Amino acid sequence: KLVILGSVNADHILNVAHFPLPGETISGNQFQMVFGGKGANQAVAAGRCGANISFLACLGNDDIGKKAKAQLITDNIDTNSIELIDDVATGVALIFVNQQGENVIGIHAGANGRLDTNYVQRHGNIIKEADALLMQLESPLDSVLKAAEIAKQENVQVILNPAPAQALPDELLSLVDIITPNETETEYLTGIKVIDDESAQQAADVLHHKGIKTVIITLGSRGVWISEKNSQGCIVPAFKVKAVDTIAAGDTFNGALITALLEGQSMMPAIKFAHAAAAIAVTRAGAQPSVPWRHEVDTFLTS
Ligand code: ADP
Repeated sequence: KLVILGSVNADHILNVAHFPLPGETISGNQFQMVFGGKGANQAVAAGRCGANISFLACLGNDDIGKKAKAQLITDNIDTNSIELIDDVATGVALIFVNQQGENVIGIHAGANGRLDTNYVQRHGNIIKEADALLMQLESPLDSVLKAAEIAKQENVQVILNPAPAQALPDELLSLVDIITPNETETEYLTGIKVIDDESAQQAADVLHHKGIKTVIITLGSRGVWISEKNSQGCIVPAFKVKAVDTIAAGDTFNGALITALLEGQSMMPAIKFAHAAAAIAVTRAGAQPSVPWRHEVDTFLTS
């Protein structure tokens, strides 16, 4: 059983010719509202890949919150622990995308901010009964820490995708079994810029010294650097695909990786499975609409 704790956002995406300047109003050429948020994206990836997954999250008790919950159920996710809160809006991301494919994003945490330590305590039993707990950093840090402590007491494996980038207390890192930072996040956590194999291993060693057994640094189209404590790491290359956008690539990688590991796959095949799922996601636009189902990943791997 997998438990994911994290954020849900309603992404409001407006495609524009150029970003508006202060005081300027511009018309977009396309608008979409799609569900995102790192927690939800990873839960959707795990659910669609066939994991037995419970998602711990807070939504507003509003139209968007109810729609988000209904959507998550169709993605094979147990939503019984999701709380719909009356006096706060569901998390929102306002995203402008320009013609170059660059984006500017403003986020309102909204109900995600109510995922406090009391919420974690209320749902502690779900964490205790899990085999693995996967988290990110769009939820309050003290809640992430509390959940990791509860998991550790019961020998539940703790996986942290430390995104968005921020420095983290050693107290939290010492509770983590598997960490999956990208290059920017790695630099925030270790002070080391990953430019080659040697610096990747140095950064991994810093994280091993903080108590983390498995370090997986994601390197975009290059794949990942995987390092297990006390052994030399290596690159596992990504699949070559034509990228449309990389939104939710990292999230898909994380949800798929844990799904494969919980099925009993060993680390290398699990990483290949996650690379395949993420590769499919980068060939499609948006966050959750781009996340593949299991049969698509299996077909990709055998073709
Ligand atoms: P994030 O999106 O969190 O910054 P990365 O960009 O490192 O994470 O990508 C995470 C994973 O997504 C990679 O390890 C790889 O599996 C996949 N991926 C990302 N970009 C590409 C790409 N251009 N082609 C193929 N796979 C990709």
